[in-house]
Amino acid sequence: MTLTLDRQDLMAGTHLIGAEWREASDGHRLDVTDPATDTVFASVPDGTAADARAAVDAAHAAFPAWRAVPAKQRAQILKRWNDLMVAHQDDLGRLISREQGKPLAEGKGEVLYAASYVEWFAEEATRANGEVIPAPVTGRRMMALKEPVGVVAAITPWNFPAAMIARKIAPALAAGCTVVCKPAEDTPLTSLALVKLAQQAGVPAGVLNIVTASRERTPGVVDAWLDDARVRKITFTGSTPVGKHLARRSADTLKKLSLELGGNAPFIVFDDADVDAAVEGLMVAKFRNGGQTCVCPNRVFVQAGVHDAFVEKLGARVGALQVGPATEADSQIGPMINARAVDKIDRHVRDAVARGARVVVGGERLRSARCDGPNYYAPTVLANADATMECSCEETFGPVVPVTRFETEAEVVAAANDTPFGLAAYFYSTDVRRIARVADALESGLVGINEGALAAEAAPFGGVKESGYGREGSVHGLEDYMHIKYVCQGQL
Ligand code: NAD
Repeated sequence: MTLTLDRQDLMAGTHLIGAEWREASDGHRLDVTDPATDTVFASVPDGTAADARAAVDAAHAAFPAWRAVPAKQRAQILKRWNDLMVAHQDDLGRLISREQGKPLAEGKGEVLYAASYVEWFAEEATRANGEVIPAPVTGRRMMALKEPVGVVAAITPWNFPAAMIARKIAPALAAGCTVVCKPAEDTPLTSLALVKLAQQAGVPAGVLNIVTASRERTPGVVDAWLDDARVRKITFTGSTPVGKHLARRSADTLKKLSLELGGNAPFIVFDDADVDAAVEGLMVAKFRNGGQTCVCPNRVFVQAGVHDAFVEKLGARVGALQVGPATEADSQIGPMINARAVDKIDRHVRDAVARGARVVVGGERLRSARCDGPNYYAPTVLANADATMECSCEETFGPVVPVTRFETEAEVVAAANDTPFGLAAYFYSTDVRRIARVADALESGLVGINEGALAAEAAPFGGVKESGYGREGSVHGLEDYMHIKYVCQGQL
């Protein structure tokens, strides 16, 4: 087994179908762009429906042997994959920074975070116990067995190119499923490198397949999987419109679905909160990955008594953030992923200002000797935000904090829940009775109380309402890749 992940590997160039790293069936290529400079620095295959079908052929053929591999051996392979990811954290972290634009320390942090899921599911693989059920009549042995669902199609977004792949592939492989996956078109290199390491860790040919494709060709690739009855599960992280499309298109073959979709997270600061802790919590929750995370606060509500102090402290902290290329060590905020993303951020800020918001800090695109590219946006705080503004209704997915003043708990809980989404919610308070009440009342899959960083491999991650269903991480993350077979044995 080779333990190298050299530059050639990182710039990969081909995708994996069965045992073979290949070009797209028609030879087309997809350019990979550095968001800091908006220049092309690598390319990968621009996959086709034929590639997608070939990947399912390989995964389907590999399934019987892989599900028969003892759980302990599958766990050992996953542990080696974890070890290889940890060993290559610097290379992989730099690659994430280069193709996705998150600062170096965060890129490396994402690799370790991704690896933690691989390690977790390696351990969970050995504990996928079924049940022996006390029989209601004599002479019967009744069991509930857990079985892998079969071939899984995983489709991932660009904002966490390592973690999203790991959170899906590790439980699938642990459960005994085989996988076809398609990473986001903006960030295919990290996913290809992880698959290369999985192969080095001993994942057999056909068990894990990856097809890369451009935005234009993605529907062709994914439709081939949606139409194929051999694909038994779709696991998707991305936007709500695409998630709904996948749910509709999965109906004909009744595939199992896990959908991790968009959010519109509220962050509430009550009068009884520790204001300094709340500002720090918001900085952590909001500005990771330049505000391009599904769980980052999108609407900040601050109670009247602490509002002005909070806005002042927040403005000072946000104004001091260092923006620059992700690959420079002192950058805290990198470029946004692409021009489409910056345009949306700018549109939201202009709309908010036109409707009466006040720019406390930022509020504009950035272009300078240091930020020498079209994709930078100044970290921004807006005061006087309200529910009519675009930034309150949909994810801005950028470094913008709109702050709304509120008076009562009932008013803010109603406002926080007044959205079709329900992924993450945060609040700061020191009143124990309020803490219990508000945690119960928030319609959200994740709730952070006096805490801005929630995700962990041991915890269930996922949404309610139009943020989707299914859970990643924790014991529940493995169950999503298994079904239950009831076996009833009578007496001979
Ligand atoms: P996106 O939905 O545009 O793309 C996600 C994936 O879907 C990509 O691989 C893309 O190629 C693919 N895709 C796009 N159009 C498709 C189509 N018609 N058919 C099939 N596949 C298609 O989302 P994005 O912009 O890459 O990611 C940002 C979104 O992801 C945000 O809404 C964010 O909140 C969400 N997100 C959610 C979570 C979560 O865990 N809930 C985590 C990260 C990101």
